[in-house]
Amino acid sequence: MKRIVLASGNAGKAREISEILANYRIEVLPQSAFNVIEVEETGLTFVENALLKARNAATHSGLPAIADDSGLEVDALHGAPGIYSARYAGDDASDSDNIAKLLAALTGAEGAQRTARFQCLMVYMEHANDPTPIICQGTWEGRILFEPRGTQGFGYDPVFFVRTHNCSAAELPPVVKNNLSHRGQALRQLLTALGARQ
Ligand code: IMP
Repeated sequence: MKRIVLASGNAGKAREISEILANYRIEVLPQSAFNVIEVEETGLTFVENALLKARNAATHSGLPAIADDSGLEVDALHGAPGIYSARYAGDDASDSDNIAKLLAALTGAEGAQRTARFQCLMVYMEHANDPTPIICQGTWEGRILFEPRGTQGFGYDPVFFVRTHNCSAAELPPVVKNNLSHRGQALRQLLTALGARQ
C-alpha cells in the first residue's frame, strides 16, 4: 500500500480527500502526524501555493505528498476571494465570517450577477525535490445564494448553489459532492496520472 502525506490542516478538505481515497490502495497520513508546520502561502496563484504546501510536507515527512489549494472565484468580485478564500474576512476568519463578508460584498447583485466557481489545484510530489510534480485542476460552476442553506460540507458550501441538483453544496450528501466537486474532479485526474506512473 502506498503511503502519502496530505499537506493540509483543513479538516473539511482532509475528510473529502480521505473519503475519495478510501477506495484506493493508498494510505493517507495527515501532515500533523509528522508535526509539519504549515507553510506560509506566499504564491499569487493556486498552483504556486499547492506546490509550496506539497514541498513543505514532503520535506518534513520524507514521504510523497499531495496538496490541494482551492478557493471560490466570484465573477462580480473580479475573481475574489480566489486564493484568499480561507482568509477573506481576516487571518483568523471562520467560515461564517467569510460567508457574511461575501454576502455583504454581493449586496444588490441579482441572479446572473452572482455566478461563481470553485477551483481546486491538486498536486503530487514524489519527494521534496521532484522536478515533475503531477498537477491537476478541477472547476465547479455555480451561483452565490442570498443566504446560507444546509449543514454539510465546509467553507462556502452553504451559499454555493448547484444548479444541476437545485440545492446548495451544503445540502448535498458527501458522496454526491465528491462526485461533482472541483476537488473530486482534480483528485480523480491525479489518481489516473498516478496509476499510469506505477
Ligand atoms: P486553502 O486551504 O488556502 O486552499 O483555502 C481553501 C478555502 O477555499 C477554504 O478554506 C474554503 O474557504 C474555500 N473552499 C475550498 N474548497 C471548498 C469547498 O469544497 N467548499 C467550500 N469552500 C471551499
